[in-house]
Amino acid sequence: AESAAVQEVLRSREVLSRVFGYDSFRGDQAEIVEHVIAGGDALVLMPTGGGKSLCYQVPALVRPGVGVVVSPLIALMQDQVDALSALGVRAGFLNSTQFPDERRTVEAQFLAGELDLLYLAPERLRLESTAQLLDRGKVALFAIDEAHCVSQWGHDFRPDYLGLSMLHERWPDVPRIALTATATEKTRDEIIERLDLGGARRFVASFDRPNIQYRIEPKNRPERQLLEFIRAEHAGDAGIVYCLSRNSVEKTAAFLNENGIGAVPYHAGLDNRTRAVNQARFLREDGLVVVATIAFGMGIDKPDVRFVAHLDLPKSVEGYYQETGRAGRDGQPSTAWMVYGLNDVVQQRRLIDSSEGDAAHRRQLQLHLDAMLALCETVACRRTQLLAYFGQSGQPCGNCDTCLTPPEAWDGTVAAQKLLSTVLRLKRERGQSFGAGHLVDILLGKKNPKVLQYDHHELTVFGIGTDLRDTEWRGVIRQLLAQGLLAVHGDYGVLTLTEASQEVLFDGRQVRLRREPERVVKPARSAKP
Ligand code: ADP
Ligand code: ZN
Repeated sequence: AESAAVQEVLRSREVLSRVFGYDSFRGDQAEIVEHVIAGGDALVLMPTGGGKSLCYQVPALVRPGVGVVVSPLIALMQDQVDALSALGVRAGFLNSTQFPDERRTVEAQFLAGELDLLYLAPERLRLESTAQLLDRGKVALFAIDEAHCVSQWGHDFRPDYLGLSMLHERWPDVPRIALTATATEKTRDEIIERLDLGGARRFVASFDRPNIQYRIEPKNRPERQLLEFIRAEHAGDAGIVYCLSRNSVEKTAAFLNENGIGAVPYHAGLDNRTRAVNQARFLREDGLVVVATIAFGMGIDKPDVRFVAHLDLPKSVEGYYQETGRAGRDGQPSTAWMVYGLNDVVQQRRLIDSSEGDAAHRRQLQLHLDAMLALCETVACRRTQLLAYFGQSGQPCGNCDTCLTPPEAWDGTVAAQKLLSTVLRLKRERGQSFGAGHLVDILLGKKNPKVLQYDHHELTVFGIGTDLRDTEWRGVIRQLLAQGLLAVHGDYGVLTLTEASQEVLFDGRQVRLRREPERVVKPARSAKP
C-alpha cells in the first residue's frame, strides 16, 4: 500500500509539471492532493488566488474516472473548459445555457470515459437524469467550488447548493473536496453541516495578503479622489474599480478616459459581446483599468492587478476581502483603496430595508454591514481587524493606513449628545423628514430657508455645534450610524433614535469616535524601474 501511495505522489508531481507546467505545489496543495487521491474528503479554505483549482484538477487527472466539479459560475464554465483544453486536459460542462445537442455530446463523452473533468451547474444535479448519468459513468471525485454558497445566511447563498448533501448519500465512496475563499467560523460550520463533511480533513490556509496595502479614506469627491490616487501611485498600472451601480460604472469609466487613463466598463447590463471584449482587453492589455460592478472578477486570473479601488461600500467583509484579493496575485506590492462616507451607510441601510426576505434575513445582512462598517471606522490596524474577522490573529502590519497614520480616538460623548438631542427635537415635527444636512445646519446655526421655514433657529439646540466643522459633523453622524447609536429610514434618509441612543442621552453612555488624520501615505510600491 505504501508503494502505491508513493506512486501516486510521483504521479501527481508528474501531472503538475507535464500538464500545468509548474515545478512545485504551493502551500497545502501537495497534502490536499495526496489526501484526495487517496480517497479522503477535504474542506479547503484558501483565499482567492491561493491556488484552489489544482487541488481538485490534479487528483481528477490521477484518479481513474472523471472529476465532477460543481460550480455556480456558469458564465465562466466555457472559459475554464477552454483554458483546460489548451493544456490538453479533456474537459466539458453541463449547464442551462447549452443547446440540447451540445449537452448530449458532453454526456456521451462522459459515458465513454473521454473526459477528465466535467463542470456541472448545481441545478443540473437536482435532475434525476443527471444523477443517472453519473451512475452510468465513473466519477473520480466531486469538487464543490465556492462551497460557501451553501450557507443560507452567508453573503452569496444559492438554494441549489442545499441539494448537494445528496452527493454523499448517493455516492458514498466518491471523495468530495469542498473549496471556498470565505471562511468565517460560522460559514465553515455551516458548510460542514449542510454538506455532511464532518469526517472531512480541513485545510485552512492563511488569509493574510502581506503585499496588499489596505486604505480607507473619507469620501468627498470620489471620482477626483480616484483620479488623484491613480495618477500619484498607479499611473500605467492595471486595476479594478468597483462601483455599486451600472450608471456609476459607466460614468466613472468615461471620466477616467477623459482624463487620460484607459478604462473599460463591465456590468451585467452590457451585452455579452461587449463584456467579453472588455474582459479580454483587461486580461491582455497592459495597464488597463476595468470599472465594474461586483459581478466582475470571480475566476478572473490576472496576476499583475496593481490596485483595487472601491468607490462604494461593499456589503460585507467577505465581499471586500474577495474583491481586494484580486490585487497583487503575483505577490508584488499592491493597493486596496476605498473611499467611504455617510451616504454609503445611508444607501446600504436603505438596500437592506428594501431587500426581499424575512426579518431574520435582513438581520443577517445588517450584521454583515456592521462588520464592514467596523472595519471602516476602526482605529486599529486594518489588516489585523480583517484577519480577526476570518479567525486569524496577528500583529499590527505597519503598512495599512491606520498603522502609517494612526487616527486619533476622541471622546465624542458630548458631540453625540448634541446631535441626538437635535434628532429628538425634530422628531416632534409631523409629516416632515429632515436628513443629515439639515441637522448639521441646525447644529452650526445656519439660517437657511428650510431652517427658517420650520422655525428651527428657535430650537435650543440651534448653533450649539460650532465647535466642529461641517465635515466633522458628517463624520460624527456616519460613526453614530455605524455604531448603531442612530438609525436611518426611508428614501430621504430620515435619521431616528435607537434604544442605544437613549442610553447616550439619558444614561451617561460614553461614545468613542475616530478623528480622520491628515493623510500623507507613502505609495505602496517602490518607484518603477
Ligand atoms: P483560486 O481558485 O484559489 O482563486 P487559482 O486556482 O485560480 O486560485 O490559482 C491562482 C493562480 O495561481 C493561477 O494563475 C494558478 O495557475 C496559479 N497557481 C496555482 N498553483 C500554483 C503552483 N503550485 N505553482 C505555480 N502557480 C500556481
Ligand atoms: Zn496595519
